[in-house]
Amino acid sequence: MAQPLIKLKNISRYFGSGDATVKALDNVSLEIHPGEFVAIMGQSGSGKSTMMNLIGMLDRSTDGVYEVSGKDVAKLTPDELAGLRRDTFGFIFQRYNLLNTANAEENVEIPALYAGIPGHKRKERARQLLTDLGLADRYDHRPSQLSGGQQQRVAVARALMNDPPVILADEPTGALDSKSSEDVMALLQDLHKKGRTIIVITHEEEVASYAQRQIRLEDGKITRDDQPAMQPHETPADTHNEDGKQNIAIGAIESVKMALRSLRVNIFRTALTLLGIIIGVAAVITMLAIGEGSKQNVLNQISALGTNILNVRPGAPGIRSSGDNATLMPSDAKAVAENISNIITVVPERSGQKTLRLGNIDDSIAVEGVGETFPLARDWNIKEGTFFTQDDVNSYAAVTVLGTTAVETFFPYGEDPIGEYILVGNIPFEIIGVMESKGAAPWGSDQDNTAWVPYTTALVRLFGSNYLNSMTIKVENTDLIEQTEKDVTELLIARHGAEDFRARNTASFLEMATETQNTLTILLGAVAAISLLVGGIGVMNIMLVSVVERTREIGIRMATGARRKDIMLQFNTEAAVVCTIGGMIGVALGFTMGFALLIFGVNIAFTPAPAILAFACAVGTGLLFGYLPARKAAHLDPVVALSSE
Ligand code: ADP
Ligand code: MG
Repeated sequence: MAQPLIKLKNISRYFGSGDATVKALDNVSLEIHPGEFVAIMGQSGSGKSTMMNLIGMLDRSTDGVYEVSGKDVAKLTPDELAGLRRDTFGFIFQRYNLLNTANAEENVEIPALYAGIPGHKRKERARQLLTDLGLADRYDHRPSQLSGGQQQRVAVARALMNDPPVILADEPTGALDSKSSEDVMALLQDLHKKGRTIIVITHEEEVASYAQRQIRLEDGKITRDDQPAMQPHETPADTHNEDGKQNIAIGAIESVKMALRSLRVNIFRTALTLLGIIIGVAAVITMLAIGEGSKQNVLNQISALGTNILNVRPGAPGIRSSGDNATLMPSDAKAVAENISNIITVVPERSGQKTLRLGNIDDSIAVEGVGETFPLARDWNIKEGTFFTQDDVNSYAAVTVLGTTAVETFFPYGEDPIGEYILVGNIPFEIIGVMESKGAAPWGSDQDNTAWVPYTTALVRLFGSNYLNSMTIKVENTDLIEQTEKDVTELLIARHGAEDFRARNTASFLEMATETQNTLTILLGAVAAISLLVGGIGVMNIMLVSVVERTREIGIRMATGARRKDIMLQFNTEAAVVCTIGGMIGVALGFTMGFALLIFGVNIAFTPAPAILAFACAVGTGLLFGYLPARKAAHLDPVVALSSE
């Protein structure tokens, strides 16, 4: 006779160890040839299911040799086992083992999915099988919407999906009424007639009577084996398609679809997982945009001062002073202007806070006494009227130029301020001009809430002192600003006999501010990254729970042909899909929050880098934190997984 399809040689399967060892199968030898219809009978606990799991390669024997088509099963890797299992066996279980979250058609398709059959072919075949089994109008019913007999017929269709040569049925009628039992057995008989090898496990004589050969098990030993009188079919139904698709992992689109389906089933949990990722990603984007916005804002304001500005203040370097050190004189400004090259202009400055009054309106604002070249030095144009002249400065004129905020304060009805008189510290000043609006300074104060007066007038008539509290120098060639700063420093040291002042250029100020702002951005980014990490841990947590909860599903998938890498792929895909969706929503939310803050006047600057980074991190988190649960799922033992509740 031909080579046996299934050959068990001295097979034993023990459970437990020591005194508690159960010999579920004890030194069993058995050969089954292609085309046989075998019933394995025995009482409950006699080892029938154990034998079926061994034959179906869901379990490994403790001892002995098991060969399928001459191949020693013990020598195969888990994935080779899965492949051989998928190509050889179709399983029918007592409790149907359908996926509750999938409809009839999808359940039937599963084995073909793992065999890499394209979608339309799968669908066609699944429908054909269901129609053949009388379920044409039940394609999209979930198992819970089907009767026991119908569910078992779906299971039969699933077992036939890959057209395996052997059907293994463990108590296929155990949960069915007698009419349904007859239907299912008639189906199996029909399949046998068409050339398949059928192995049915049962404890019922009636069911066993359909078979040609009956094997009886008692306490893990074969006690009877009725070999059939007739020869088995000469041409076994080795019809499964060998078109080389068996080793292709299921496609990306398939796994994403599958992931979406199982994520949808547990929508609330999915939403919670998403939330973690969304918050993380949105936080990264918004925080970094705030950091970047604040940085650009400060830098813009500093740049607006001009990068060609040198500033000299009284007080020794490194000592915080109130600005009232009596060290910087108007004559110093003059000396600098006359002796140092590369200078466009020098503006002596003396400023302070004064109360201004016009009619019944009074307000305390900044009063800056400056030289007539102030507009030139600061690139700040006059909007209306004129700025004061050198003559005004020389003659201590009581004239003032107002900033736009000051104008709004004292002329609330939009009257023309030019030519009006305003009291500055009780002295009437004629308003001769209005400066253009400049906005907030880097240090935050409103530069437009200012009244400018000649510095001579400020010194003598307003502040009553000889000393400047600042000197602004505009240099000609910015590249030489360091040298000019040195020259100014040397000159002033020579004049004062000590370094009792501080000189600084805007370029260095810019550098310092950039550093501070970068630190702020890194800080914000770190906080946001931590929330993304927490989101990732959430994903892992949920995926781990999901693996435990879906152990049975994993078992069913393994019994129907899934390899470890298929299971890995499935769980990894689920994690990646959650994180990708979460990442996309997070990016959208991040930008939305950013724009919302923008409306509320917060400085926001979006750059593509944080969005790309955060999104990549989210997907990376998914893959990273999905890996552990996926691995756990993939390494489950098929029998253990199947028997879990
Ligand atoms: P049957 O299917 O014939 O009712 P089983 O093959 O399920 O019997 O079980 C045979 C024996 O092996 C029983 O005594 C059972 O308790 C034991 N057994 C089966 N599976 C396990 C297991 N995973 N762990 C421990 N004992 C087991
Ligand atoms: Mg059993």
